[in-house]
Amino acid sequence: INSIRTVPLAPPDVIFNLTAKYKADTFAQKVNLGVGAYRDDAGKPWVLPVVKKVEQALVNDPSRDHEYLPILGLPTFREASIRLILGADSPAIKENRVTAAQTISGTGANHLGALFLSRFYSKEVPIYLSNPTWANHKPIFNNVGLETRNYAYFNPKDNGLDIDGSIVLLHACAHNPTGVDPTQDQWKAIADVIESKKLFPFFDCAYQGFASGDLDRDAWAVRYFVERGFELLICQSYAKNFGLYGQRAGCLTFVLKNSDAAARVSSQLAKLQRSEISNPPAHGARIVDRVLNNPELYAEWVENLREMSSRIKNMRDALRDCLIKSNTPGNWDHITNQIGMFSFTGLKAPQVAVLKEKFHIYLTDNGRISMAGLSTSNVEYVANSINHVVN
Ligand code: PMP
Repeated sequence: INSIRTVPLAPPDVIFNLTAKYKADTFAQKVNLGVGAYRDDAGKPWVLPVVKKVEQALVNDPSRDHEYLPILGLPTFREASIRLILGADSPAIKENRVTAAQTISGTGANHLGALFLSRFYSKEVPIYLSNPTWANHKPIFNNVGLETRNYAYFNPKDNGLDIDGSIVLLHACAHNPTGVDPTQDQWKAIADVIESKKLFPFFDCAYQGFASGDLDRDAWAVRYFVERGFELLICQSYAKNFGLYGQRAGCLTFVLKNSDAAARVSSQLAKLQRSEISNPPAHGARIVDRVLNNPELYAEWVENLREMSSRIKNMRDALRDCLIKSNTPGNWDHITNQIGMFSFTGLKAPQVAVLKEKFHIYLTDNGRISMAGLSTSNVEYVANSINHVVN
């Protein structure tokens, strides 16, 4: 038996460590391109106006209390989350074969989905993750005893592996960290492979509406898979598209073959959830619930989403323009072709090190930058610094 006194020291989290280094830096023009959270053009966190409004109403609502939510969360929140991702007129909803649990944001949805599959799908099959993927995916699945393997991202023709029956994790939109999404034709080819290999699709959807500014467009891949008749699950996060990072509002949705299976899955999700967290947090879910279930607030939210996604798109254009204007070697089209919060710049670790040490620009070693860290006042500085390190 190991003694707790000999527990080894774990390394700090890469992203949170990067932010700590940025905070400690006293250089005036320092830039943080590591953090995966939206910032306005002044570099400040942004509380969505619709969120602010609903939050005021909640605080002033005399009927609000701090009782526990049901184990599976707010029913109207879960129903609205299902409609948001599948589309209100989805046949799967009409056929009563969808079930959902409110979760601790997207991370909690990934965890509960992984835990459920490890119990009721198989502990023996591996889960395939795109290479690269969100840094938290591997530990989340390993924590529940599932083996993780990589698939080349993205090459639907490469089906040389014997992976029949496995689980495959797909980023619904705005792939993290690459910002590269499959085209609709490529999604169709991916679905063909998944169907022929009898794989279980595990969709992680952390950027619906934030990616393109269009909620339906960002849900296209998930809806296409549902239309093709797959059984699947979807992890939804309201961190990015509602700016509710710390409130931990999320949802795990299963689409199944029939309503009987949905009822059985729901009962087991409730049992797992009870032992894991008892019941999910109320505040963020109440905000999302009010917005998704009120047409006027929903329209305001869509406007807020457009504001965020347009600023990000403008920053992509501005960065590419500045790089081209200063004759930076290489092709920078990928900056504007990529989608969502991040851009995979192609910068290599030694170049990243110079950006950090010489120019006080903080990004992860894989060359991923958060577009939200750019602003009209720092984009030229960042472009000039990139120009310097690639020359
Ligand atoms: N999945 C992906 C791919 C992500 O990028 C993120 C956010 N970084 C998440 C899930 C979950 O984040 P959260 O738990 O804050 O919702």
